[in-house]
Amino acid sequence: MARGTARASLSHLKSSLTIAGGGLAGLSLAVALRSRGVPVTVLEAGFYPRHRVCGEFISGVSIETLDFLGIADLFHDAKQQRSLCWSEGGHIIHRDKLTEAALGISRYQLDDRLQQRLLELGGTLITRHRARPSPAEGHVWAAGRKARQGRWIGLKAHVRGLDLSADLEMHSGSNGYAGLAGVEDGWVNVCGLFQLDRSLDAKASALLPAYLDAGGNVHLADRLRHCQWREGSFSAVAGFELGRQQAMPGILGIGDAESMIPPFTGNGMSMAFQAAETACMPLVSWSAGEMSWLQAANEVRTALAKRFQKRLAASMLFHKVLFNDAGRSVLQALSSADLLPFRPMLSLVR
Ligand SMILES: Cc1cc2nc3c(=O)[nH]c(=O)nc-3n(C[C@H](O)[C@H](O)[C@H](O)COP(=O)(O)OP(=O)(O)OC[C@H]3O[C@@H](n4cnc5c(N)ncnc54)[C@H](O)[C@@H]3O)c2cc1C
Repeated sequence: MARGTARASLSHLKSSLTIAGGGLAGLSLAVALRSRGVPVTVLEAGFYPRHRVCGEFISGVSIETLDFLGIADLFHDAKQQRSLCWSEGGHIIHRDKLTEAALGISRYQLDDRLQQRLLELGGTLITRHRARPSPAEGHVWAAGRKARQGRWIGLKAHVRGLDLSADLEMHSGSNGYAGLAGVEDGWVNVCGLFQLDRSLDAKASALLPAYLDAGGNVHLADRLRHCQWREGSFSAVAGFELGRQQAMPGILGIGDAESMIPPFTGNGMSMAFQAAETACMPLVSWSAGEMSWLQAANEVRTALAKRFQKRLAASMLFHKVLFNDAGRSVLQALSSADLLPFRPMLSLVR
């Protein structure tokens, strides 16, 4: 009792943080800060639960990171994904096994679990609230990819009745790529990133098979058309650019708001958690008055750049190869000669 009172009175002495964006980076940072006694408010433009455009394949995050954030138990029933099969234009070019299992869980479930954890810890969450970027002390911008005139469209849906040949099926084609992986309750998440094509004659969920057809993945498109589609799960997002996002002066950004790794690597979610881990302790120190805001924000920026620079550069390069006819021919040739350096490529983006 006495200890609880002391902790409560100490927390009054701490400066509070406001995080704009309640996605993976914002919510996991908020949970980590709350469990260290920091007063936190998250402002989220949307609501929970909701389906989001995402491959829902979490690869490369360690148990230590999830433990540090205080969220490891939220993955207790996540699917453990190990085998993968990569096809190009409908032809298998590589099969492999991941040395560390990836986690399969829908964003519908994961984001909802994270927001519940934040509330359990006494954090404040305001949904349907669109925040503006602020350079003020104590403000963190975790509002995801920056909306702009981008060349990409992301599409996703949950389907049933699609037999997978591996835990993760990756399909690249002339206009983009799609990943298929299991999530909860027997649903398979199908998620693709394509070059925006306004000439396609399809609307809403029919867009997903239409983009696959247009990229040469006709067989997959056909498989999809014969599946049961989960109601409400189709989602689309367009108008963004990959890589480093335009920096806003004085703003402390984390997650996709800071840089967006091309989704083929399946690592953006891991990076969101790792960014939260990186940002946590400097922000705890600022909150306790041990560091100025400028010092804490600069420490976070430097550490994020150091942690992510190499994998962002490597993944932007792979992305270019995948969106280039010559690049894809080289990949196919390497694969036919059994020389595709898949594991070294993977290690560069982890
Ligand atoms: C097609 C596609 C497939 C992907 N597949 C994978 C994959 O398989 N594996 C993987 O690891 N990563 C994948 N990613 C990347 C992954 O989704 C992101 O890297 C990850 O969601 C980043 O988390 P975040 O918290 O930074 O952003 P988000 O999860 O996007 O969260 C940002 C939040 O901010 C809110 N918001 C936006 N504007 C405001 C505002 N003004 N005020 C308040 N709130 C606001 C949004 O509603 C959202 O909830 C994929 C991305 C795409 C586009």
